[in-house]
Amino acid sequence: MVTEEEFDQVQKMFRKDRGSIQSSCYENQKATHGKYFLPFRHLIKCSVCGHYMIPARNRGHSGTYYLNYRCHNKACTRPNNNVRMHVIMDQLYEEFGRISQKYDFTSFVDDMSEYANKKMQELSVEKHELLGQKTQKQRKIDDLAEKYAELDKESPKAVKDKLKRDMADLQNDVVNIDERIKQIEAKIKNPEKLRMTIEKFSNSLNSLINRLEKGDLVEKDILVRNMVSNLEIDAQKRVIYRYKSPFNFIFEPEFSTGSPVGERCRELIDAADEMTRRLYCVVDWLALHPEYNPKTKVIPKKDYPVLVDVTF
Ligand SMILES: [Zn+2]
Repeated sequence: MVTEEEFDQVQKMFRKDRGSIQSSCYENQKATHGKYFLPFRHLIKCSVCGHYMIPARNRGHSGTYYLNYRCHNKACTRPNNNVRMHVIMDQLYEEFGRISQKYDFTSFVDDMSEYANKKMQELSVEKHELLGQKTQKQRKIDDLAEKYAELDKESPKAVKDKLKRDMADLQNDVVNIDERIKQIEAKIKNPEKLRMTIEKFSNSLNSLINRLEKGDLVEKDILVRNMVSNLEIDAQKRVIYRYKSPFNFIFEPEFSTGSPVGERCRELIDAADEMTRRLYCVVDWLALHPEYNPKTKVIPKKDYPVLVDVTF
C-alpha cells in the first residue's frame, strides 16, 4: 500500500543498489530474486563483519516460503546466520510501539502550531533588530569614510590606520549580521507549509504502528528506511540502529536538549511536559528542513512484484 511515487522511489533505490554494489553477494541474488521486491535490501548489516545481510525467499519443509536475511561473507564468523524477517520486525514493533501507542499525536498539533507561530514571531523580531543594527553600522562606516576623505598628506599615519581598522571592523560586523539574517530567513521561509508538515507528521506518527504491522513489504521497507539508519543485526539477532531525524527527538530514550530547542520561546518550553518538548524539537527541525515530506498517503497498487506468498 504505497503511492506510485513512493513505489518508483523504492524501485529506483532497488535498481541503483543492483547497479552500484560491487559485492559478489548481490551477484548471487540477481537471477533468482531480481524480479521481486525484497524489503530492507542494502539496509541491514551484519554486525559481526559489517557486510550487508542479503534478503532471500527460502522455502521451508512444509512448502511455506519465508523471508530470511543472511550474511554471505564466507569469512564471517557469525553463529546465527539465518534471521527471519519477523525477528527484525518484532523488535521494531516493540520499540516504536513503546511510544507511538501511548500518545495521540494529533492532540499535540495545537501545541506544536503555537510553538511554531511563537518561534516565527520571535525570529521576525530578531530579524528586525538585526536590520536596525546593520543600518547603524553602515551609517558609522559612512561617517568614518567621510573623515578619511578629509585627511590629507600631512595627516599622521596612525590616524589613517586607525580609521581604516575601524572601518574594516564595522564592515566585518555587517557581514556577520547579514549572515545571521540569512539564517533567520531560512527558518521563517514558509510558515503555512510548516503548519501542514506538522499536521502530516503527527498523523503519520499516530498510524505508524498500524501501518508498520499491517502494511505490505514495500510499505514496511519505506517506513523503516524513513525512520532508522545504520541498521545491524548482532550475533544474538538483536536489531541495532539509530533513529533518523526528526524521529530521534521522539523515540530516543534519552532526551537531551542539545537541539535548537531552548534558544527561543522560553515560556512555552518551560511549561511543557517532556513529550511536548520533544515535539518542539521536531518543529525546530522541520522548520530547518522545508524539503521534508513525511510519507503519509498510502493507496493500494495492484501490480508490483512484491512477494505475497511469503511468511515472515
Ligand atoms: Zn557477517
